[in-house]
Amino acid sequence: MKNRPLSPATRLAQALRYLDPDTGAIVPAIQPSATYARAADYSERKPYIYRRDSNETTDHAEAIIADLEGAADTLLFASGMSAASAVMDALPARAHVVAPDVMYHGVLQQLQKHHALGRLDVTFYKTGDLDAMQSAMRDGETVLVWVETPNNPDWDVTDIAAAATIAHAGGARLFTDCTGTPPCCTQALTLGADISFHSATKYLNGHSDVTAGALSVSDPNAMWDEIQNIRKLQGTVLQSFDAFLLIRGMRTLMLRVERATQNALTLARHFDGHPLVQKVLFPGLPSHPGHEVSKRQTGGLYGGMLSIITTGTEQTAIDTARFCELFYPATSLGGVESLIEHRKTVSGEGFKVHPNLLRLSIGIEDVDDLIADLEQALTRATA
Ligand SMILES: *Cc1c(COP(=O)(O)O)cnc(C)c1O
Repeated sequence: MKNRPLSPATRLAQALRYLDPDTGAIVPAIQPSATYARAADYSERKPYIYRRDSNETTDHAEAIIADLEGAADTLLFASGMSAASAVMDALPARAHVVAPDVMYHGVLQQLQKHHALGRLDVTFYKTGDLDAMQSAMRDGETVLVWVETPNNPDWDVTDIAAAATIAHAGGARLFTDCTGTPPCCTQALTLGADISFHSATKYLNGHSDVTAGALSVSDPNAMWDEIQNIRKLQGTVLQSFDAFLLIRGMRTLMLRVERATQNALTLARHFDGHPLVQKVLFPGLPSHPGHEVSKRQTGGLYGGMLSIITTGTEQTAIDTARFCELFYPATSLGGVESLIEHRKTVSGEGFKVHPNLLRLSIGIEDVDDLIADLEQALTRATA
């Protein structure tokens, strides 16, 4: 076994070969203490002092993600949004940021708010369009380039390596949100990103029972220290019970993502060209404009996120979501159970989204059951 590199599946299944040195337990304990007593000489018993800083279970979950990302350091937050917000808060006042115009609605809202308040100066580019990204750059002034790939809810693909070249040539750092393809699919840092973000609520945990956000870097610099300080002062660290659940979820990440990918591919092929479906948006389909880049960036593990655009009216799409009997009509993604949502209803006004778009998060159920459910819902909605 010496010198034989272990595959991510093995490292994940064993939670980095966890073994409690005192008890032999192979599952980490949950530490509930909010504070830690000083040593007999009154020195602080580092590294744990107070619950708002961190705890053993969260540190262990961070080590698993760092290993998967090939990162020097990872920080876990109480949600994806608190992690993304910490990055925005760590930027200098009025810093110039380049960001996509179609992306996860919470992040977009937060960037728009910072821009409106004059806290940040944000130029939005057409998602996935590298020429538009390049034109939005201000040489030597742009501090951060934000990329979400594949993006919500259209699943357009951005070439991370090419985006890194653009960002770095202009003196900026590259931030990537690859929540739709977790780090067992896409290692953003290896492709050139400076900060890799994942909503761990989604695939990393995978069971729809935790909210968490992960930031990873290969070069922990001064901005990283500031991000860590923000988490500490705002108390947005992931708590130990949630970290315990996240570790349990990550043990099966590889299996879940492989199954979700297979299911999504089968379902996408089935509905591509279907008389009640105008379009299937899924990077795993060879006809998708981002297919080749996605294949390269994910190694063919596309994940289970796709959208369909129904025929008929907006109401046809809403009814399709409503009439599903297996797909839950719920937001979020990346769980073992399949979800469907009418994106326009959920994001509200002010977002660029097709009125007939249904976002599907494909889980690990039997794919024939899922196809049959969507078939009957589409038929009933069109009748
Ligand atoms: C869910 C999500 C977020 C926000 O994460 P939360 O854990 O819900 O706060 C950010 N980006 C993407 C792409 C997401 O899907």
